[in-house]
Amino acid sequence: MRVRFWGTRGSLPVALTSTGVRRKLRSALTYALEAGVTDVDALLANLDRDADFAVTHTYGGHSACVELDTGAGEFIVCDLGSGARPLGNDLLQRAAAGRPRIVNVFLSHVHWDHIMGFPFFAPAYDPDWTIRIHGGHAELEHALRLQQSAPCFPVPFDRLAARIEFVRLEPGVPHMTNGIEVAIKKQRHSGDSYGYRFTRSGRRLVYTTDSEHRPEDAEEAAGFVEFFRGADLVVFDAMYSLLDAISVKEDWGHSSNIVAVELCQRAAVKHLCLFHHEPAYDDEQIEQVLRETVRFEELTRGEAARLMISSASDGLEIDV
Ligand SMILES: [Zn+2]
Ligand SMILES: [Zn+2]
Repeated sequence: MRVRFWGTRGSLPVALTSTGVRRKLRSALTYALEAGVTDVDALLANLDRDADFAVTHTYGGHSACVELDTGAGEFIVCDLGSGARPLGNDLLQRAAAGRPRIVNVFLSHVHWDHIMGFPFFAPAYDPDWTIRIHGGHAELEHALRLQQSAPCFPVPFDRLAARIEFVRLEPGVPHMTNGIEVAIKKQRHSGDSYGYRFTRSGRRLVYTTDSEHRPEDAEEAAGFVEFFRGADLVVFDAMYSLLDAISVKEDWGHSSNIVAVELCQRAAVKHLCLFHHEPAYDDEQIEQVLRETVRFEELTRGEAARLMISSASDGLEIDV
């Protein structure tokens, strides 16, 4: 299975600013002058080797949208943030090459940053497509209709041409989609959110975003450890630093990179991917969070196997 990130920001999409581009340019040019490299291809290769990700790339700015691709059959998507727009265009092309025109969406919840891409999701306007929207909330359809209501959006939900179905899932009741077993878990968040665990042929992905973890609640933590147990990849809401999470931003419904490492270590997870990046962070700050998280994992690893850690970026693909 391949996990493909189409949107990785939390709360609000953001764009790379001119200031950010200039900073990257300055770093790259400084490197070139100091290294005396004048051939462009050689320079790019050297930069890829030596420079930070934040100099040569960007984490991107779309809000939450993650695809789980088995390479065949129906499509599977977690959340419909603004990343659903480029995803939708890509799905049209892949369906033209013979894939069934069916998308199974799993919504963590209906906060705006997780559904705002749907009115721009091209398959929704095509009568040949079926879009099956799964979730733990009773009001999935209500929320999607509401965001396309006048006066906030020009195209009402009823004008969407695709066949759109809603499927309510319940914790404790496994669900099968396209040969994948899906489990759902309720999470602490304003209005509740749900985490998903996808298992196929012994390989396992957990998608858990917009989930606040309270260090003092041992029973709750144990429940998440069980849910994450042995996962090959956990995509985790690590929006805040630990200091933020336990001070000013307590009760804001999100979590930190430190809690992510602790839970994943206890659950013997193989790979943790930090997700739902704070929109106020620039590329350098996101990379700094990643560095600190890697360091924290090293310091706390003990005898356990190494937990691999990465930071989600728009366009990133991870094989599970
Ligand atoms: Zn969110
Ligand atoms: Zn939320």
